[in-house]
Amino acid sequence: MKKAFLVAFLVILVSTSFSQQVTDNSSKVDPSFFITHTREELITKLVGLPCGIKADDPVKVILQKLETFLYAYQPPKEFSDDVYAKAANIQALISVKQGGYGIGSVLVDASGKIIEAAHNSQIQKRRSDLHAEMTLMTNFENSSKSKKYMNLYVYKPGMIVFSSAEPCPMCFIRINTVGADTKYCTPGPEDGMVTRINCLPESWRDMALKHKNELGNCSPIMQKISHLLFYSYLLDNRGPR
Ligand SMILES: [Zn+2]
Repeated sequence: MKKAFLVAFLVILVSTSFSQQVTDNSSKVDPSFFITHTREELITKLVGLPCGIKADDPVKVILQKLETFLYAYQPPKEFSDDVYAKAANIQALISVKQGGYGIGSVLVDASGKIIEAAHNSQIQKRRSDLHAEMTLMTNFENSSKSKKYMNLYVYKPGMIVFSSAEPCPMCFIRINTVGADTKYCTPGPEDGMVTRINCLPESWRDMALKHKNELGNCSPIMQKISHLLFYSYLLDNRGPR
């Protein structure tokens, strides 16, 4: 009898913690999380992640802890774009570790396969145009594999540029020009152009509206990490003075 009680207790415990995990994963992040203006705000949010980061960790240690977490992260099935978010965040982190801005991007073909990955390298290469998406598209278009996926300078239907952060006006226009769809991970209200399609000149807006432009189906933890990597320049105030 005692044994039966124990088994029942364990079943309840396990199922409760499982449903808690699912609930935590699917709960929406408070929109205020995605506005970060100071180093203190950034550190507080980094400490709140389940990565073991402490407020007095040196930048190198913070990045190491994020890296360990990201590489071990198993994208849950209910967040269908987390596999792309993880890959884009790993790219973003590579840039941050190099002293650059934390934005990464992957190119996904019509079957859902990642066929190219890149990160921002404006600081590293002293080039104003080297946003993650620009490097992604340039590298892809210069590669031999692109022949299979392109018609002159236009991509075949169903391809997606997936970014850790919402693409800026420059990148968004180029994504539209090549005919790809746009998806991104973090919903920062100050981040990009996709949510401001109606601000584009009419013909550019019409071109943008021919494609899917949307926030990905990403978990709260991937959204948070994308945002914090994007604003990680606040850690050491990197960039032009
Ligand atoms: Zn850009």
